Amino acid sequence: MSDSGKSNSGPPGAPPADAPTKTYDASCHCGAFKYSVTASPPLDDPSAVLVECNCSICVSNGYLLIYVPNERIVFSNGSIEHFKSYSFGTKRMGHYFCGTCGASCMIRSKDPSFFTGMTCINARMLQGVEIEKLKRKSVDGKSF
Ligand SMILES: [Zn+2]
Repeated sequence: MSDSGKSNSGPPGAPPADAPTKTYDASCHCGAFKYSVTASPPLDDPSAVLVECNCSICVSNGYLLIYVPNERIVFSNGSIEHFKSYSFGTKRMGHYFCGTCGASCMIRSKDPSFFTGMTCINARMLQGVEIEKLKRKSVDGKSF
């Protein structure tokens, strides 16, 4: 995830407001956290990709990420404040996981000037998605 894209008016990675979307139910493994995620493009769209990054935390957690505006994540059980969180290095990113089952659900910037308004969602938590069939894009986060 780079710092570029500051020329965009919206947050980096934010989809156009009128782009097609699809809403997925998601939860951690034990169900303490339940939320819906509205992805754009829909994950069955040919242009959809899951980001697979080679940095230490992404490899440890097995993250397959999509980027979603914060307001397109709606909790029906729990909230982002109720997750356990982990930060390391520059402590710019918060990694949010369930304190009961340990499922790594999402990543959000703690730096208001970086990746503003966006959340990295671990697509492995989404229901009704054949995750092994989706396209993956490798990101060399280890080198950032
Ligand atoms: Zn859980």
